[in-house]
Amino acid sequence: MADESDAESRPLRVAVVGAGPAGIYAAETLTRRAPVPVTVDLLDRLPTPFGLVRHGIAPDHPKMRAIRDTLHRALDDPGVRFVGNVEVGTDVTLEDLRAHVDAVVYTYGAALDRPLSVDGEDLPGSLAATDLVAWYCGHPDADRARVESALEGVRRAVVVGVGNVALDVARVLARAPQELEPTDMPQHVLDVLAAAPVEEVTVLGRRGPAQASFTTMELRELDGLEQATVLVDPADLELSPAAEERIAGDRNATRNLAVLRGWAGHDAGPGRVALRLRFHRRPVRLLGADRVTGVEVERTTVGDDGRATGTGEFEVLPADLVVRSVGYRGEGLPGLPVDQRSGTVPNEQGRVLRDGRPSPGEYVAGWIKRGPSGVVGTNKHDARETVTSLLADAEAGVLRSGGDRDDLVRTLQARGAEPVLLEDWRAIDAAEVALGATRGRARTTMHERETLLAAVRAATAR
Ligand code: NAP
Repeated sequence: MADESDAESRPLRVAVVGAGPAGIYAAETLTRRAPVPVTVDLLDRLPTPFGLVRHGIAPDHPKMRAIRDTLHRALDDPGVRFVGNVEVGTDVTLEDLRAHVDAVVYTYGAALDRPLSVDGEDLPGSLAATDLVAWYCGHPDADRARVESALEGVRRAVVVGVGNVALDVARVLARAPQELEPTDMPQHVLDVLAAAPVEEVTVLGRRGPAQASFTTMELRELDGLEQATVLVDPADLELSPAAEERIAGDRNATRNLAVLRGWAGHDAGPGRVALRLRFHRRPVRLLGADRVTGVEVERTTVGDDGRATGTGEFEVLPADLVVRSVGYRGEGLPGLPVDQRSGTVPNEQGRVLRDGRPSPGEYVAGWIKRGPSGVVGTNKHDARETVTSLLADAEAGVLRSGGDRDDLVRTLQARGAEPVLLEDWRAIDAAEVALGATRGRARTTMHERETLLAAVRAATAR
């Protein structure tokens, strides 16, 4: 450990674990707001930065994905060093990492899916939205074989859940191939989606339209698809006067209902994909012997407490693909506690709690801090709160002092790891743009870790 005078004469050293929006905002806030010089190592287990902005935001939302240009400015800051392709817990232990820096901010998100916990959930043809999203965004860890076999020959898909991720999934499945062509989806994704003969996509809410968590802009977008028509059963939209009164103060719910009512009574028309939104139905079982053939659902009513109760009326929705989009959850890193119920790291204003007490030098931001909620910009405020706690602790002198700044990358390299730095990421970036150009696209995402690393090695060899 460095001695005190050494610690005072050098910048405050921070490692941020996770180079998604929460991590990048934390790094940016640290370098901009700290009253003392700060250097940040921004670690990610992938060779690429941007987290869910690259591997979560739907590729047919190019304006939202353009936020990566803004995020890139933080990576260009000389006080921030991107260190990709490094897995904390495998390539470097938490204890090791903490010996290199004065503070660690965990911002690695919530990558796991939540299960439905119903029979048949593990059948082929049943996927978590996290699987499908990872695949269509070209995440290196996506299970290509499983997703692609689930999509083979799909005519009828059911998406369980009525959040924005469910709408992303439904939209991507219902889009015409020519609508997806300009995106940066990997070529094999475009090919598989173009070959799937999708006729019907049903999005299923276990409660009513007034309780749906999707936002109005995302809902409205469903109406603009080239080959799909949105269908809503007017009976699903009937609300009791008490329910009407209850949602009157909820702008999102009021607007959603107005949009849904505008669609009631539409017809799909021949040759168009029927994109159905159905409410008050909860899945009780996925049917099928060796692959999914349908979902058995129970009708529900929503009580005054907002909870769904089964009515005992059942119905079967035929389906050859079922995607559960019922939320994400986070997990701990080896050596870091996680609350199993919420899937978040226990914290107080971003300070990690161990045995209920703040652990000096350990912080969280983003989904692993507050759970999977909000939009990209939400992480800015979230990171600010965490950084404020960190800087207050630095000022109060409670951080322990870490080692030499360059050591982390050198240590990793000496152990045979292959850290990807900013220049290496630029080589990947250029290779993706060049790959896109071969087909007249702005970019094609390279999905295999080995291909990403090969682009780095090729640039290094030049
Ligand atoms: P979400 O908004 O929490 O939606 C989860 C959905 O799953 C809810 O409709 C929930 O219904 C349902 N659900 C949960 N358990 C269920 C069960 N056992 N059976 C049936 N349904 C169940 O989560 P998300 O869609 O994963 O989105 C995560 C966050 O990312 C959100 O903040 C979202 O807005 C954001 N996001 C934003 C965009 C965008 O801005 N374009 C795009 C994607 C994601 P209940 O309400 O009844 O529990």
